[in-house]
Amino acid sequence: MIFDYPESPSGRLHGPAGYESYESFRPWLRDEFIFRCVYCLKRETWGQVTGDFELDHFHPQSLAPDLTHDYFNLVYACRRCNSVKLDQSVDDPTMHFSSESVVVSQDGGLASDKPQTKRLIRQLDLNSPKLKKWRVMWMRIVDLAKERDANLFKQLAGFPEDLPNLGRLRPPSNSRPGGIEASWYAKRQRGWLPDTY
Ligand SMILES: [Zn+2]
Repeated sequence: MIFDYPESPSGRLHGPAGYESYESFRPWLRDEFIFRCVYCLKRETWGQVTGDFELDHFHPQSLAPDLTHDYFNLVYACRRCNSVKLDQSVDDPTMHFSSESVVVSQDGGLASDKPQTKRLIRQLDLNSPKLKKWRVMWMRIVDLAKERDANLFKQLAGFPEDLPNLGRLRPPSNSRPGGIEASWYAKRQRGWLPDTY
């Protein structure tokens, strides 16, 4: 299901560090967050990617300047979510947005019984009428594609073509080098990349 959040809070796969510009973390974050917004699950493949996805500090730079270049404070977010969040400090979404803590209903709304997840949903305004409508629309589009157009379905629910080759990057340090072998690019090299996710 295209709006299913990751299965469980599993911690980070990658741990690059030491870049001078936080933009350098972008390929790591694209891979880490599976090419979609950590908050609303909008995918790169649903639009024009250039400029559409931003690197969000969940503890904002204004309140936690020491975490500006900390990979573990960065998430991959769409422009809409980043602009709604603004300078709010929020809990780590990787800990509170999982399929264990949030479900998407047929009306496009997000439901949770966990207080921290509920707060995040509220802070990001993820249950606005506009966003609920948007989810219903995409669920329908992807369902129709699945029924009628296998190529379109793969395009909408599959991986982007430009998977980042993380093994070629040289971050000043990397506390989790093993993640590179588990990256989507490495999976594709081995023929293990699923058609859709
Ligand atoms: Zn978003």
